[in-house]
Amino acid sequence: MSCIFCMIANKEIPSNSVYEDDKILCFHDLEPQAPVHVLIIPKKHIASLDDVAEEDKELLGHIMMKIPEIAKTLGLGNGYRLVNNCGEDGFQTVKHLHFHLLGKRKMIWPPG
Ligand code: AMP
Ligand code: ZN
Repeated sequence: MSCIFCMIANKEIPSNSVYEDDKILCFHDLEPQAPVHVLIIPKKHIASLDDVAEEDKELLGHIMMKIPEIAKTLGLGNGYRLVNNCGEDGFQTVKHLHFHLLGKRKMIWPPG
């Protein structure tokens, strides 16, 4: 199985990373939709938010606790948007759980 985000987590393909620890990696999106657009992924392969298991509770908590810290280091003191696309209707294109962190521009709502 060659999951592109697993390959990034394993350093088999390069990424422009901004944060890493033993559980997660954060790197710049290849096609940024805002002046700041990074992705936060667990190093463990989880296909989507729908596939999170009870045993992943701590990992998910860790991701959520790290996001505001990462946002601060990226200068997003005025706010940001956090997005998870899940499944077909959510327009998820990479089947490895990830959160988009976008900022440095005024977002619109509803997102469309
Ligand atoms: P999603 O549509 O929510 O599944 O988002 C997948 C995101 O991954 C898109 O924003 C892509 O631009 C981004 N992406 C795909 N491949 C790479 C890569 N090799 N490095 C960085 N970002 C990527
Ligand atoms: Zn994966």
